[in-house]
Amino acid sequence: MNFAVRINPASLDRQALYQAIADQVGTPAFVYDLDKISQHYRDYANALGDGNLLCYAVKANSNLSVLRHLVALGAGFDIVSGGELLRVVRAGGNPAKVVFSGVGKSDAEIRLALDMGIKCFNVESESELRRISRQAVDLGKVAPISIRVNPDVDAQTHPYIATGMKDNKFGIAMDQALACYTLATELSNLRIVGVDCHIGSQLTQLAPFADAFERVLALVDQLAEQGIHLNHVDMGGGLGIAYGNENLPDKASYLALFRETLAARGLQLIIEPGRSLVGDAGVLITEVLCIKDTAEKRFVVLDTAMNDNLRPALYGAKHRISVLQSGCTEPARACELVGPVCESADVIARDQKLALDEGDLLLVHDVGAYGFAMSSNYNARPRAAEVVIAGEAYTVARERESFNDMLKGETLYWNQ
Ligand SMILES: *Cc1c(COP(=O)(O)O)cnc(C)c1O
Repeated sequence: MNFAVRINPASLDRQALYQAIADQVGTPAFVYDLDKISQHYRDYANALGDGNLLCYAVKANSNLSVLRHLVALGAGFDIVSGGELLRVVRAGGNPAKVVFSGVGKSDAEIRLALDMGIKCFNVESESELRRISRQAVDLGKVAPISIRVNPDVDAQTHPYIATGMKDNKFGIAMDQALACYTLATELSNLRIVGVDCHIGSQLTQLAPFADAFERVLALVDQLAEQGIHLNHVDMGGGLGIAYGNENLPDKASYLALFRETLAARGLQLIIEPGRSLVGDAGVLITEVLCIKDTAEKRFVVLDTAMNDNLRPALYGAKHRISVLQSGCTEPARACELVGPVCESADVIARDQKLALDEGDLLLVHDVGAYGFAMSSNYNARPRAAEVVIAGEAYTVARERESFNDMLKGETLYWNQ
């Protein structure tokens, strides 16, 4: 891994820094602004107050340098696999500040988490509760658990990223939650420590969070009546970012929904933001490969594709595009930006009005969350480089994949 920091000679502005990265690292390249992540983290930390915990949702962006930066800021982590736990630990994170979410945890993942001593398992079914209990007994450990409830609220977001309605695979229905906690008291080697929910992603309004909180609180009270007392309430992640001109609630108003009520009951507040910490801190630098005029429209073919940033193809997501460098002297004209992958869904942005030529450089904005994290080698394309910037310096945080990297572990079997 390459940790060489290259400081720009003069006091260059942001555009010049991107330009230098394009020249020296090549394209496509993801660039993450660590200062912006710090700013978002501090906004959350200030509004959270002492004693509460932010667990960054690693799945949004699991780059080691990004994780390392969040460790230094004091973050805890929300993981959804053993691999993410290993990444957090490699970045210097403390397992005692890790919560483990996800509908399916393997025995090996559960044992790894028990061995490392995580803060809490967010449990999503009775079947999982039994599985965790078995592994804890086997290892002679006690597993701290929380039940992830499904509050059945409409998060008013894209159906693929709504998780809190009763027809989703996530969480345990409210009317089954009490039975699940009762089972947890009966199984061996479990310690009930909390309750959690996560109703979806890219929420732009506070009402669904308030609705979910009200339902979770009712359960907390019901549990207390049964003699089950919790240490924390984890309200998940989900606060959106402005990909276009969305108006978003600020982090302080969001946390004000929960903070005083929980403090009054002596309960710790945990949140699991992903996108709202890293989403707008990332851009993707890409180069124009070809300009293709058809009878219907102008296609501008870029060197980035759906294998780098799946969001447009998967969710119909729209990303702002800006020109970093252009040699084009013609007027702007309508065009569709596409990638080289052999899929009609490989569109980076539709309905753009830009003046572009071959070799020009563009920025795809707001790709810090669910960008590289969802990238693949589809079409045998190496995954892009990842670069972090802080102040006016940049570091290659992950080298562009080589063809040898992509062949790793493959054998050339021939049955003659
Ligand atoms: C994805 C996820 C998050 C983070 O969601 P964001 O919308 O990125 O904030 C938090 N908690 C759980 C359980 C998740 O699955």
